[in-house]
Amino acid sequence: MTDSPPAAAPTRTALVCVDVQNDFCEGGSLAVTGGAAVAAALADHVRAHRAEYALVVASRDWHVDPGAHWSDHPDFVRSWPVHCRAGSEGAELHPAFATVADELDVVVDKGQYGDGYSAFLGADRAGRDLAGLLREAGVGRVVVAGLATDHCVRATALDARREGFAVRLALELAAGVDPDASRAAVEELRAAGVTV
Ligand SMILES: [Zn+2]
Repeated sequence: MTDSPPAAAPTRTALVCVDVQNDFCEGGSLAVTGGAAVAAALADHVRAHRAEYALVVASRDWHVDPGAHWSDHPDFVRSWPVHCRAGSEGAELHPAFATVADELDVVVDKGQYGDGYSAFLGADRAGRDLAGLLREAGVGRVVVAGLATDHCVRATALDARREGFAVRLALELAAGVDPDASRAAVEELRAAGVTV
């Protein structure tokens, strides 16, 4: 008997908290209605359910020079007011969510020189990408929450499916920029195999 046993399927779950940053909450430069409430609810969720997650991940929009992603005349579809400038207060995690900063296993920054909608485009401080970090931790299932449903949450959930993870969108822990676009994003995610 020299055959090695088959590798166990990854069964652990990660929570990915997308862009819960000051600029996306009330008072920020690109505020999402309900953003601060999501920040508080997500912090409560992490405190109550920490043990269920192999990894708790936060992504940050972290722009240095994102080109046409920033505009003085934004269309709020592909171009946006200046937001989440790397190192600025607006790019910090919202204070309500930052109360669980010690519970975060991984922080990935994205969008330094481009749109960077998906957390899967980001890297941690050591330059490791999110998909690799999840696989290394034995994660097979990803729960996605945060801001905003119709943009970075959507892109992150779609990329998680493309990377082969089972994905659930925690709709009660997310908020969108535009109600119609958010509804369309939820339908698109369902069609891509995301549980909502
Ligand atoms: Zn951005």
